Amino acid sequence: MDYIKIKGVKVFAHHGVIPQERASGQEFIVDVTMGTRTWKAAAADELEKTIDYGAVCEKIVAFMEENQYKLIETCAERLADKLLRDTDGLSEITVEIHKPNAPIEADFEDVSVCITRKKHVVYIGLGSNMGDKGEFLYGAIDALDTHPDIEVKKISTLIETKPYGNENQDDFLNGAIKVETMLSPMDLLDVCQKLEDEAGRERKEHWGPRTLDLDILCFDDEIIETERLVVPHPDMMNRDFVLRPMTEIASKFVHPVTGKTMGRMMVELHEKEDKVPKRWRRNK
Ligand code: ATP
Ligand code: MG
Ligand code: MG
Repeated sequence: MDYIKIKGVKVFAHHGVIPQERASGQEFIVDVTMGTRTWKAAAADELEKTIDYGAVCEKIVAFMEENQYKLIETCAERLADKLLRDTDGLSEITVEIHKPNAPIEADFEDVSVCITRKKHVVYIGLGSNMGDKGEFLYGAIDALDTHPDIEVKKISTLIETKPYGNENQDDFLNGAIKVETMLSPMDLLDVCQKLEDEAGRERKEHWGPRTLDLDILCFDDEIIETERLVVPHPDMMNRDFVLRPMTEIASKFVHPVTGKTMGRMMVELHEKEDKVPKRWRRNK
């Protein structure tokens, strides 16, 4: 990650718990550190390929002046959220809001709140083996990308695969996508399950035929084990139809439990499934 920093943006605004502070206003100072990737802009030497820090400054000033919060905690949270949503190429932000004239009965220099927020990087596995399979998968990808809190960043090739677990059903169409999102894991699962429902998904038997299956494969490098959600998906290392598209879009992504890249996990599955001729195997 590369960082662009803006320090000491002075704004006269009206945030504060005490009514007098809100009425008469005071000076606030804002610092932001923006996590992004600058190499494309550096190679092309073009402003359009990076974050325009002048435009970000204007947004900070307008936001501070146009809104009014009791707490600088709230102010920092909302400002971070707005900048993350509005700024292309921004994946992580640290916002610090200083209130050097806060009404404190002491001789002090400054008080501030500093928070870091980021867009989550998530991989979702897609599958369908009923009806117009391509329409279900591309429809889901479109719907995810249209969601205000989700951005689809990469789409694998969709591949035809043999059914897994329960072989007495039609072939599958599978793929994987990389998304960036501001949603929590549970909220993202809700969105995925709503799309499955809207595609007419019925759950009659485990691993049975389905119009649409959206599985959260990995969510940053988080490990989650709740009744509704297990992440990384516990069976992904055994599934060619998951690892093949994952290798295409994220071969270097490291699985947080096995510590192995997707590429390595794909090779190991091939070896396990006898897809590599014996004489070429590492563990003969
Ligand atoms: P599998 O998860 O083995 O691929 P499946 O996709 O057919 O099986 P579903 O019927 O789609 O299973 O989901 C069953 C339950 O799994 C859901 O109710 C959901 O809450 C839960 N679940 C647990 N972990 C995940 C995850 N990582 N992604 C999606 N659903 C999950
Ligand atoms: Mg599944
Ligand atoms: Mg599922």
